[in-house]
Amino acid sequence: MADKRDYYEILELGKGASDEEIKKAYRKLAKKYHPDVNPGDKTAEAKFKEINEAYEVLSDSQKRGRYDQYGHAGTDPNGFGGGGFSDFDFGGIGDIFETFFGGSGFGRSSRSKGGPQKGNDLKYSIEVTFEEAAFGTEKEISLNRMENCPTCSGSGAKPGTTPTTCKHCNGSGQVQYKQNTPFGQFVNVRACDACRGEGKIISDPCNSCSGKGKVRKSTKLKIKIPQGIDDGQTISLRGEGEPGSKGGPRGDLYIGVRVKAHALFTRQGNDVICEMPITFVQAALGCELEVPTLDGKVKYTIPEATQTGTVFRLKGKGVPHLRGNGRGDQYVRVNIEVPKKLNENQKALLREFAEVSEETHEQRKSFFDKMKDALGM
Ligand SMILES: [Zn+2]
Ligand SMILES: [Zn+2]
Repeated sequence: MADKRDYYEILELGKGASDEEIKKAYRKLAKKYHPDVNPGDKTAEAKFKEINEAYEVLSDSQKRGRYDQYGHAGTDPNGFGGGGFSDFDFGGIGDIFETFFGGSGFGRSSRSKGGPQKGNDLKYSIEVTFEEAAFGTEKEISLNRMENCPTCSGSGAKPGTTPTTCKHCNGSGQVQYKQNTPFGQFVNVRACDACRGEGKIISDPCNSCSGKGKVRKSTKLKIKIPQGIDDGQTISLRGEGEPGSKGGPRGDLYIGVRVKAHALFTRQGNDVICEMPITFVQAALGCELEVPTLDGKVKYTIPEATQTGTVFRLKGKGVPHLRGNGRGDQYVRVNIEVPKKLNENQKALLREFAEVSEETHEQRKSFFDKMKDALGM
């Protein structure tokens, strides 16, 4: 996903481009890079694909909205842990031909609309604190999703009336048509123009939804964030997407979890890592440290002669496992801090210490012995 170009950039547009501008830009670029105009030109072909993909998303207000909010992750069928949008569908060849060789003009119409269709999947992004991710929490989110219109129960017809079967397509919502193209004749199926692929004609549309059968509605949902969830993971809620059509099931809701950085901890799987500065004196003499953990402060005694970079393990002080019992561990790395601002008194004491410490630094002594051997000096 990272190497994907911005859809607006591809169409040479600004973020606020109108539908008309998007259509215009697409028409212009698609003609320029069309494979018929650039036979055998792989770059043009790739560009043409890219342009089509950008148009597919930006020309659809729902997809465009998600793209504006989440970028490519909002439209990529493989984004967010494999959930994906079932309705993402890079325009098939039928669409392209329709666009350039007549047909019903712009828009997607080759898609089958015959049978029951699952509703749109939705994505939502939620941010939680380090602790909330570790121990779990509940969050309320506000979702603006399409719902079946309560007035007409989703039929789109004014209450008391019933939609009639489309005579043009006999209710299938599809018509076949032949097309002559530079690559030969194609028999294509496209959505019926008369009923716009619905298979039914609504002569008395419902006033509340203008015959669409669906209305946008703000819904509050309580989301359970399980303990142990990590940054970038997704919570899938089946059936919490938008309602399907023609008896199809509802789509799903995918909640991408972002975990805020913690001031003291970082996380590796279920383990918590903490870097802790200590003084040279603490390291040399050993001491009792107060170590921060997810459960509060705990006391930990480091031994005499602790070296800088030493890592201690606090068993079971990590993040609870997402599935099953148990917790990870906490690792504390102690780093010796060399003081930066010493006063004359402190410096004098250190010099005094140095004078009586000639033979106390083993590594240093051994290094100089080796240096003497190696260089003969
Ligand atoms: Zn309605
Ligand atoms: Zn029809």
